[in-house]
This record gives sequence, C-alpha cells and structure tokens, in this order.
Amino acid sequence: MSSFLTGGVLLLLQGVSERTASQPASRPAFAVRSAWHRPAETSEAEVEATLRRAAAGGLRRLDVEAISEGQTFYPSPLYESQKGFERFDALAAFARLGPRHGIEIHGWVHVFFAGFAQARLVREHPDWLQRDAAGSAASIFEQFEGKGYHFLCPASEPARAHILGGLAELAAKGVAGIQLDYIRYPISRSEAGKTQQFCACPRCAGDTAADREKRILDFVTEVRRRFPRLRLSAAVFPDLAHARSEKYQDWSRFEVDELAFMSYDRDPSRVGEWIRKAPWKGPIVAGLAPFLKYPPETLIAQIRAAKDAGAAGVAFFALHSMDDALLARIAKELP
Ligand SMILES: [Zn+2]
Repeated sequence: MSSFLTGGVLLLLQGVSERTASQPASRPAFAVRSAWHRPAETSEAEVEATLRRAAAGGLRRLDVEAISEGQTFYPSPLYESQKGFERFDALAAFARLGPRHGIEIHGWVHVFFAGFAQARLVREHPDWLQRDAAGSAASIFEQFEGKGYHFLCPASEPARAHILGGLAELAAKGVAGIQLDYIRYPISRSEAGKTQQFCACPRCAGDTAADREKRILDFVTEVRRRFPRLRLSAAVFPDLAHARSEKYQDWSRFEVDELAFMSYDRDPSRVGEWIRKAPWKGPIVAGLAPFLKYPPETLIAQIRAAKDAGAAGVAFFALHSMDDALLARIAKELP
C-alpha cells in the first residue's frame, strides 16, 4: 500500500519546475484580510453562501481547512476523508467559486499532526509516527478530550511523501496558496517543566535540537521546491525562542512567502510587539483570535496594532467564531 502511494505521489509531482526566486514575495502593506475556515458546507450553494458572508465582512481570503488530523475535507485516494466529505469536494468548490466573490482560497494543512489513535493514517502506518523514549506515539501535552495527538516523523521518507501527495492534491484543485500548520514537533515540555521528548524512533536516535530544527526546515524547503508557484505561508508561534525550544520550529529560516503569527493574546500591544521584534524580513500576517470571544473593541485595537507594526494583514481564527455584527464592524475597519 505505502509503496503504491509513494509511486502515485512521484507521478503527481513530476513536471513541477524548480523555483527560481528564493526571496519571499512582497505585497502591498496590510493587503491580507483572511479568516481560517473549517468547512461544514455540504453543497456548492452553501459554499457560495459562506463566500458571500466573508466578502460582506471585508475579507479577501479564506484559509480553508483541507487536511487535518490525517483526514481531508474532500474525497481523496490517499487520505481518509473527514466525516461528511467522502463525496463532496469542499476544497475544489471553494477554489473554483472563491475568486468569483473576490476571495482568494488557500488550503490549510496540518502537516505533521496525523490525528488520534483511531485515525486510519495512525493505525495503518505505525512506522511513520514519532515516538518518545518509551516508544509511545501519543503526546501527553497535546490532547483533545484525553486523547493524545500523534505526529508523523519528519525523518520518515514515506511519511514525507504522503504529506507531499496531499499537497499535490490541493495544488491540482487550483488553490492559490497553501498554509503549513503543525509544521513542527509535538510540544516537548509542560509549563510545570515535565518533558516528553520526540522523536526517539530508530531514524531519529541521537538527534540534537539543531538536527530536529533542520528536519523541519528541510521539509519546508522541499515543499517550496515542489510547489514553486503556490503562495506558501506557515502558521507559527510568534515568540521565536519559545517556538524553537518547545517545538523545534525555527521559522526565522523558513523558506515561505509569508508567516501567520498565532497572536492569541488579549493585549493589543503584544500583537504589535511580536511583529516588530520578529527576526524575519518577509510579510507577517497577524493571526487574531475571535474564538476567544474578545469584545469587538479589543479585536479592532489588535487590528490597528498589527497595522501600525507593519503587518502584511490579518487573519481571524476562525470564520465560524464571527457573527454578522462582528463581520460588519471589521468591514468598516478594513476599507
Ligand atoms: Zn523519528
């Protein structure tokens, strides 16, 4: 099964030319107005309704959840589909209809997060998973309802080929860009100082922190090389020292077009400070958190702080957390 999949991936990837420019592309200041969106639509009519609502709220882009927990929001020969998307291709519908509403569609992908113990990807490919020193693949520090997250091992060749195969599926649907989320290791240390060190599989034995960072960096570079024409962004933790020490995510060296900071802090001044202090010259989008139910004034203050700090724009997490009144308020702030 896995060798068949790998062969399919290679076929899909043939014909993609080398990227010529390695510098992040520049864009007009504060041009990105996006929201992350987890599809719940069951028809093209419902996709249109979502797009109309987003456009009315002043948005110009949606980062549409495409592959998460090792599952797709479309029928896939490579991946298990999310429930309700075994037949309806939500990604293709968004990619095709978005531009008609002035909405650019990016595919949002959980790169190394492979799902929970029952996910097909986890069950069928135990050898692709990251392991701790005791051999466990389930994260202690990242859980949902008591179930530990499982991560793919970045040193596993078939695991990397599987991810690239998913990205090739998105590219074939006509998305304008891909957002790399979970482009990192599992959290390795709790706030109380307890540790669970990944990855200790035989491929990764003896890895130093620098080796782990390099495995992530090399994969980002591989994605860049395979998909030279897609706008690539990465969702990252805005405090670089924390991102590196806890998750081996050195985004200062990512070869992407844009970083999306998960600036989930109530204090608008921190949102601006993270952007100003970032050791990265490319565009930074401030990811803001209406899901935390801030008062609208707080969100507006954060938008202004991001703009003042020179952000390339804003992205809201997530569209379903924003009612029509909030969207209307934001539309006034984003002329
Ligand atoms: Zn490993």
